Amino acid sequence: MATPHHGHHEHRGHGRHQEAAHDHGHRHVDEDMLSVEEAYRQIMACFSPLETEEKPILECLGQTLAVEVRSPLSLPPLANSGMDGYAVRREDIAGASEQAPVNLRVIGLVAAGQVPDRSVEPGTAIRIMTGAPVPPGADTVVPFEETDEISRRNTGRPLSDIDIQADLPLGCNVRPAGEDVQAGELVLEAGTVIRPSEMGVLASLGLERARVTRRPLVSVLSTGDELASLGEQLAGGKIYDSNTFSVAASVVAAGGIPKILGIARDNLDDMHRKLEEVADSDLLVTSAGVSKGDYDVVKDVLTERGDINFWSVRMRPAKPLAFGMLRGDSVRGTGRPIPLMGLPGNPVSAMVAFEMFARPAIRMMLGRQRLARPMVEGVLTGPIYNTDGRRVYARVEVEKRDGVYYANPTGPQGSNILTSMSRANALAICPEDLPRKEAGERVDIIMLDWNEEVDI
Ligand code: AMP
Ligand code: MG
Repeated sequence: MATPHHGHHEHRGHGRHQEAAHDHGHRHVDEDMLSVEEAYRQIMACFSPLETEEKPILECLGQTLAVEVRSPLSLPPLANSGMDGYAVRREDIAGASEQAPVNLRVIGLVAAGQVPDRSVEPGTAIRIMTGAPVPPGADTVVPFEETDEISRRNTGRPLSDIDIQADLPLGCNVRPAGEDVQAGELVLEAGTVIRPSEMGVLASLGLERARVTRRPLVSVLSTGDELASLGEQLAGGKIYDSNTFSVAASVVAAGGIPKILGIARDNLDDMHRKLEEVADSDLLVTSAGVSKGDYDVVKDVLTERGDINFWSVRMRPAKPLAFGMLRGDSVRGTGRPIPLMGLPGNPVSAMVAFEMFARPAIRMMLGRQRLARPMVEGVLTGPIYNTDGRRVYARVEVEKRDGVYYANPTGPQGSNILTSMSRANALAICPEDLPRKEAGERVDIIMLDWNEEVDI
């Protein structure tokens, strides 16, 4: 199984006490905190690839093939021409050149999609178009540029015969049958992700449908009395519920299907009511109400209806995290237990916790073999501070200059500052046992995107 991003940082042997002694920047270190790896391990133990489904190939983009694909045919099915030109017998054109052309009688034409109706006999040629089957008898195609065709056209001479002006090797410009794929060959392994090129491969084999691992349905629930829905007027200390949208969008970007449950107020009835709607979900992602000092409604309800752990993870942002199973007897409809991930409420914390824990879970359910984002090593252009022995995931914008990745911090790193997340395309890591990373130091960087627009 893949491991979470922890960077290439070598953890040295010295312990926390020693570290604290030479590091006045470290304040209180919470020994009850779970490492990122341990949280990841416990979470990922609860997920496996979902069932498979079969559907039209175009609907499978981004999904994982559940079975291998063997080719029902050879590609190309017949030997065909790679150029517009003349299909000839190689032995007829031996020694041909511009000065000493070989004249052949043209006995026919074959276009793409046609079947040649006659064979190339000694001393003859058949005009052939790109992709057209090579006629029996012919073994080589001479491109029309290597003949006197153009000068014949320009001077109005007939094309009933042709001067071949080059000697080409046997088989030149002929694409043999089965050059790309042989009938029966293993073309796509189970576990392959269907990208546009796999889409093309499936279509080229004539396969209309594919069997893929189905996408997870992920319920998204925000909690909090202070939250307003979009379209409402903000009044009385309310803020708009952004987590529903950033989390739902993250679900889509990870390959899942979001089911938006909306906002549960901080009261027991509302929480219970929302949990009535989770049946059929493969995962419930909530936000807020899970940190240590929080008013306990969310925790009470989750504890009553599930086996949920409330963790402090040794990371910044996103220290508070809840994870466990909603018990089947509390899931109306299916009675199926549902994994629950309680993200912290702060908008950046919610996104980073999703990134580290929910996204790999979704990818696991999707049948992905690679769960982690690509990482690069780069040079920091501004410091990252680590005040309390947690692993810091700093929002940075990565750019490549002269072959080197530079990680530019995108501004204030408070867990409520969503705009610095928006300016970032990556997270740069300051390991938990370092008080800071200075400008100019090398850092491990988790790439969230490569500055391409998301288009899903
Ligand atoms: P909590 O985890 O409930 O203590 O929330 C931490 C912070 O996140 C508070 O400032 C909340 O107002 C904020 N917050 C919680 N839920 C959301 C949400 N859905 N959208 C935006 N901010 C939120
Ligand atoms: Mg709250």
